Amino acid sequence: MDRATSLEKDKQHVWHPFTQMQTAGEPLCIVRAEATSLIDANGKSYIDANSSWWVNVHGHGHPYLAQALQEQFSQLDHVIFAGATHPQAIKLADRITSLLPEKLEKVFFSDDGSTAIEVALKMAFQYWYNKNAPKKRIIALDGAYHGDTFGAMSIGQRGAFNKPFEHLFFDVDFIDFPVGEARSQSLIHAERILKSGEVAAIIVEPLVQGSAGMRMYDAVWLDAFVSLARKYGALVIFDEVMTGWGRTGKLFAHNFCEQEPDIVCLSKGLTGGVLPLGLTVATNEIYDAFLHPETAKALLHGHSFTGSALACAVANASLDLFEQPETWDSIEWIEERHRFFTDALKAHPKVKEIGLCGTILRFEVETGEGNNYFSSIRDKAYNYFLDRGCLIRPLGNVLYLNPPYCISEEELDKLHVVLLDFLDDL
Ligand SMILES: *Cc1c(COP(=O)(O)O)cnc(C)c1O
Repeated sequence: MDRATSLEKDKQHVWHPFTQMQTAGEPLCIVRAEATSLIDANGKSYIDANSSWWVNVHGHGHPYLAQALQEQFSQLDHVIFAGATHPQAIKLADRITSLLPEKLEKVFFSDDGSTAIEVALKMAFQYWYNKNAPKKRIIALDGAYHGDTFGAMSIGQRGAFNKPFEHLFFDVDFIDFPVGEARSQSLIHAERILKSGEVAAIIVEPLVQGSAGMRMYDAVWLDAFVSLARKYGALVIFDEVMTGWGRTGKLFAHNFCEQEPDIVCLSKGLTGGVLPLGLTVATNEIYDAFLHPETAKALLHGHSFTGSALACAVANASLDLFEQPETWDSIEWIEERHRFFTDALKAHPKVKEIGLCGTILRFEVETGEGNNYFSSIRDKAYNYFLDRGCLIRPLGNVLYLNPPYCISEEELDKLHVVLLDFLDDL
């Protein structure tokens, strides 16, 4: 099918995510990808500056991942995961638990970030239910994003994205994002809620809130928040769906913390972005609360693709890549290069709120209208970058880069140069 026909059919039959189809421009028609490059139907190439929605951490078409996928397909593609198991899932669970804090021992498989979150919420609520001490409330951070299914939406920032469903959400207390004065205020607020004894769990995106605009906060505050939750007996859930896999400079964001979570959610870069897979990893203490002669006390949850052998095989191969020093050299090098670039950014009159955490660089463009997801800067920047052969996806007036780790020096420098050119042309 030629490009024009493809796009015509796309318009007729495809409903795209997060897109107002009436006003949306023509989508890119990407036919091939290699390492950091996305290649469209005209043969034009784009640097994938946001790792295709933060998932392709090793870039596209990695030969080692491709080989793992092919080999697995020839052995076992998929098998029902209730009443059956398979070597790749076992291996993955074993490896993941060895990378997480010691007490996190039990791995539940699901399909993506949102389902990993749903599972975490069900674990938390049912944990208290099974203990005959039901607790109903959750504490989350202002600006949180945990996915687009109902439970995940409930614990996320309320607003235009989920307004039509608001009446269906359960009770969640949001505390202010911990910067400036809010650092102490939000802890006081949290303690007041926790004292009620009704809080089943707290949940955070540790250190970096992705969708809120890659907003960053510090590990000292997070440790204090977790300690409070512990003091009042609430479970602690870390949503590392975005922050995992080296994004923050360490394998997981919680590696910067002293306190440990009870539940960790993983997805996105878990398979190197090759196939969807979600994991919810819990402590033995939580797991034990589901052990009972009655089936009804079990975690009666699952998805058709739970524990996909193909996805597990690629995840295991991706873990192999994280065992290579070269991967960490790249992560370190990207952070250094970003840091160097922030000096140029700091001097720019249109730039504010620069943040750098591992391979994530973000800043806000001064528009005079505040931080607004629907800012017109968003489209302007998006198109400007496309023209220059780079794909970014601004979050309102927040521009950010979180490239695949295989990005070359030349490509990263190009992204930095285009950012500066864009700001100069404003
Ligand atoms: C993307 C994301 C999710 C949801 O993951 P999906 O795979 O898109 O369902 C959850 N939490 C965080 C922090 C995310 O960035």
